[in-house]
Amino acid sequence: MLSVHEARERILSHFQKTASETLPLTACANRVLGVDITAQHDIPLFDNSAMDGFAIRAEDTHASPTTLSVVADIPAGATPTVTLAPGQAARIMTGAQVPAGANAVIPVEDTDVRQHAAGTFAPKTITFTKTLKAGDNVRERGIDMRAGEIVLQKGRTLKPQDLGLLATLGMAQVTVHKKPRVALLSSGDELLTVDAPLESGKIRDSNSYTLAAAIENAGADVLRLGVAKDSREAVTALFDQAMHEHVDLILSSAGVSVGAFDFIKEVIEANGSMDFWRVNMRPGKPLAFGSYRGINFIGLPGNPVSAFVGFEVFVRPVLGQMSGSLDGNRQTVRVRCGEDIESDGRESYLRAKLRSESGILQAHLTGHQGSGNLLSLVQADALLIIPAGVKCVPAGQEVFAILL
Ligand code: AMP
Ligand code: MG
Repeated sequence: MLSVHEARERILSHFQKTASETLPLTACANRVLGVDITAQHDIPLFDNSAMDGFAIRAEDTHASPTTLSVVADIPAGATPTVTLAPGQAARIMTGAQVPAGANAVIPVEDTDVRQHAAGTFAPKTITFTKTLKAGDNVRERGIDMRAGEIVLQKGRTLKPQDLGLLATLGMAQVTVHKKPRVALLSSGDELLTVDAPLESGKIRDSNSYTLAAAIENAGADVLRLGVAKDSREAVTALFDQAMHEHVDLILSSAGVSVGAFDFIKEVIEANGSMDFWRVNMRPGKPLAFGSYRGINFIGLPGNPVSAFVGFEVFVRPVLGQMSGSLDGNRQTVRVRCGEDIESDGRESYLRAKLRSESGILQAHLTGHQGSGNLLSLVQADALLIIPAGVKCVPAGQEVFAILL
């Protein structure tokens, strides 16, 4: 049986990056940058005031007190027309361009004026006792970004603050990778939609909801195909629908084990190829990879926790790779086991709650680790990774954990 690492490498080798597209900046949140972004000019583009106050010449501030005559008024957005001579100041607002001759700003609250009430005229003179150095309260041209500097790297998932930076640079259009498209189906005669009345022997399809949200959270678009009944015809019909939509991946849950009604494997084999259908892991051993009429296929297990873990371990990395993302995977950290943990020798992904104790993350299992127990997954902050071959991790030992 394949190890998790071998299975993931094998799956990843079948996926290419999506092409890029150019979108308006307003559509770029959470999208993956397709190019490096270089600052086209210095930011800020001109020396400007960090405070509401008066632009002055620092060398004029050695008398105590200093009195200067106010020769100009510079609101934000204005172009100063004066050059300060010795003994002169200009009223200036935060963000306004510092006039020629000035090299510092004295905040209004440090002068005898104390505050500029909205609508007041500039005073004739100001008096203050502080001594200033050149550069005080001035935001120097280029202090934030320099022309020619790479400020955002290709492969970065754009955060809100990145959009602000792109706007600062005047980038109304941005080149990003296209979102991968994933067709999602559940399978099983026992499955009801969320709004259907319960019936004897039936359960609600939860995987569709978990996995669709996980796909979108990983930066891809989802085509929800619903539930395939346990028959060759039903499974084939949904796979064909996915094929006609030219998706990048068909993702299913359930029906890939050794049950008498598990038709998915058979349909894949009849219309493409099955590369493997088991991985040495827990939960989630029945995990299938293959292709259906030329489209890559991943079959997750049916049990809700197994399906989720399979998604995190195999599908999220695939979607990250396709979307060109360098930062799309979940963070893995070292944590200390807060209790003895038993395992069965397979690479195991166990649900745990993390608590910080004196700065060290301590992990406690969230309860029974049965692969159908969704509440214990909901309560978990992390999946502890117990390596293959390990049967017991004593309390106090460190393991890696995937933060959820
Ligand atoms: P299977 O792989 O078809 O044998 O399914 C394994 C287990 O997962 C069974 O207990 C199923 O009822 C359950 N299961 C399968 N699909 C879903 C689903 N979409 N939502 C919740 N449970 C499911
Ligand atoms: Mg089934």
